[in-house]
Amino acid sequence: MANPTVENLVIIGSGPAGYTAAIYAGRANLKPLMFEGFQTGGLPGGQLMTTTEVENFPGFPEGITGPQLMDQMKAQAVRWGTELYMEDVTSVDLSQRPFVIKSDDREVLAHSIVIATGATAKRLGLPCEGQFWSRGISACAICDGATPLFRGATLVVIGGGDTAAEESIYLTKYGDHVHMLVRTDKMRASKAMQDRVLANPRITVHWNTEPIDVIGNDEHMTGVKVKDTKTGEESTIDAKGLFYAIGHTPNTALFKGQLDLDDVGYIVTQHGSVETSVEGVFAAGDVQDHEFRQAITAAGTGCMAAMLSERWLSFNGLVQEFGKTEAQKLAEEDTAHAVEVFQVSGEFDVTETRHEGGLALRKLYHESDRLIVVKYVSPNCGPCHTLKPILNKVIDEFNDRIHFVEIDIDKDPDIAESAGVMGTPTIQFFKDKGMVAEVKGVKQKSQYRELIESNL
Ligand SMILES: Cc1cc2nc3c(=O)[nH]c(=O)nc-3n(C[C@H](O)[C@H](O)[C@H](O)COP(=O)(O)OP(=O)(O)OC[C@H]3O[C@@H](n4cnc5c(N)ncnc54)[C@H](O)[C@@H]3O)c2cc1C
Repeated sequence: MANPTVENLVIIGSGPAGYTAAIYAGRANLKPLMFEGFQTGGLPGGQLMTTTEVENFPGFPEGITGPQLMDQMKAQAVRWGTELYMEDVTSVDLSQRPFVIKSDDREVLAHSIVIATGATAKRLGLPCEGQFWSRGISACAICDGATPLFRGATLVVIGGGDTAAEESIYLTKYGDHVHMLVRTDKMRASKAMQDRVLANPRITVHWNTEPIDVIGNDEHMTGVKVKDTKTGEESTIDAKGLFYAIGHTPNTALFKGQLDLDDVGYIVTQHGSVETSVEGVFAAGDVQDHEFRQAITAAGTGCMAAMLSERWLSFNGLVQEFGKTEAQKLAEEDTAHAVEVFQVSGEFDVTETRHEGGLALRKLYHESDRLIVVKYVSPNCGPCHTLKPILNKVIDEFNDRIHFVEIDIDKDPDIAESAGVMGTPTIQFFKDKGMVAEVKGVKQKSQYRELIESNL
């Protein structure tokens, strides 16, 4: 749908860089519009949605989980008037002014843009990677570690940086033993992380080792074929899980040919600034930073981008005022949902729509004559966090016509195992004691709505 209004500032991306730019631009009364992203370049909220504790973001002496930190940044951006769309930008045209930014659902014109699209986890492209993706292979230990398949199992982590080290340590909580494959004879991880890995008796580091393929049966992977990078000798590690932690690629495909990028694909900014090769377009965070790649540096450059954008708009006499839009009100509601605590009734009451836990599911399975929507989540799972406000809204629309149960697979591993859950979030739909549909990951509201409507 075309929108004839020209925005002051469009921010692409909702990691620490994007939200900080939004907070500063909002406070400068620019009423920024943000595309939060959805799937192409990672989750809304960015990379910190896939981590547990963030111990080094100033202001949180006890640490804070990544998803909580991003919730707070989002709430602050909304408070200062940011209009949010949980959509991926599919194209931009920087050759004309105002600039044109398109998603599948809308086209937006803007005088100024902050690009904060961050980076995406790399995959290896192993021959059988596609066959065993989500059936043992994962790019997010924090999201999938609690999956029943991995409990008490041997697991493999690939990579030698901080992420690989953090994920290996985290996985010892669920797996029996973790093998960490490091391609050279050195780890890139910080000294503190290396010490923690090397001191952990449940982690074995395989130096000079790289994976060459994955083997498995009809249900899941059973092992990783590896090669010694020095001798060429091949062997197999029996394992049920393989976690990639091999770095990131900057999300800049949209801007190829329109902005100066370096050899790897990072946006080139002027020294000590966040100005790009096109006036009025600024780049903040990991998308332009191959050196520091931290939440605080992303936030810092987000601040710089918003301030420079405001200066540029003022200098060119382009600043405009906008009223509160419908989309903004909706975004505020979403945020309220995101920080809402799940309500559980003390007593089981079959007339209630929302329930929690394995016991409730067992009862509903036998007693309910409604469609039962079961959401499987795990602690600290960023995508589960993203899904919460999306699904909450859809569940509200079908109040009293469906039953909804949330299962934490960490607390109810038996239920998750018998349901064949291989990762979180997973949504299963049951009718008349049979599963009628299953959806993995985070999808648009319309997809859940259609599935419910067609199975009522
Ligand atoms: C496992 C892990 C642990 C980490 N731990 C720490 C830590 O403890 N402390 C620390 O300081 N840093 C940590 N980092 C690094 C930190 O997460 C990043 O430096 C930071 O998130 C970068 O922020 P960003 O805003 O630049 O981009 P990102 O966080 O990558 O966010 C990018 C955003 O852009 C969106 N996007 C991408 N493409 C599009 C598109 N086409 N349209 C619309 N939106 C799009 C995405 O959806 C996302 O919202 C960690 C990273 C990882 C992976």
